[in-house]
Amino acid sequence: MRNVDRGLEVRSEYVDANGGRSVYLTFDDGPHSICTPDVLDVLAEHNVPATFFVIGVYAGDQPELIRRIIAEGHEVANHTMSHPYLSECEPAEVQHEILAASGAIKSACPGASLRYMRAPYGAWTQEVVKTSAMAGLAAVHWSVDPRDWSRPGADTIVDTVMASVRPGAIVLLHDGCPPGELQRDNPRGPREQTVKALSRLIPAMRGRGFTIRPLPQPH
Ligand SMILES: [Zn+2]
Repeated sequence: MRNVDRGLEVRSEYVDANGGRSVYLTFDDGPHSICTPDVLDVLAEHNVPATFFVIGVYAGDQPELIRRIIAEGHEVANHTMSHPYLSECEPAEVQHEILAASGAIKSACPGASLRYMRAPYGAWTQEVVKTSAMAGLAAVHWSVDPRDWSRPGADTIVDTVMASVRPGAIVLLHDGCPPGELQRDNPRGPREQTVKALSRLIPAMRGRGFTIRPLPQPH
């Protein structure tokens, strides 16, 4: 748990009081036309759930991917409308970024139940946490970050996660890129390394006795 300010908390792990070895997979910055289907295929192959923190403008562009994520038993969560540094936004802008993203997700999939919000770049402020809470969204950060967005190689992504994962860990991965950072040079998409790493991470985590679960009910 990270304390942002008095009484406002951002969860970065969910440790099971009963000593269970649960871990949680999260994917930010999608949906992406190539990467998100690839990630979904790997998750389906291994039958594990994940939470997708999607960017609202992408949800609006590709509503069918939002519906596919949910239809396959995963959760869609709020990662703002346009992925700004919320710490540099005026309160009205923070509110718009969060509410518009929820609206875009609901338009894509009216049955979607939204529980969580994650600030782009982890730039939490009191305003962001408060505005999220008013929108019915709990703030969730991460505890394991292999920096897959920097494309360090699939081996490094796997090794970094396995070196730091522990019961209750929330693992940050990416199935897309923020607007302005999209690269079109790789026909297999900007997250090819993440997809490759994921197919090895899931068995590796299970081999260490971890169970990959959906994020719990916020409280
Ligand atoms: Zn992001």
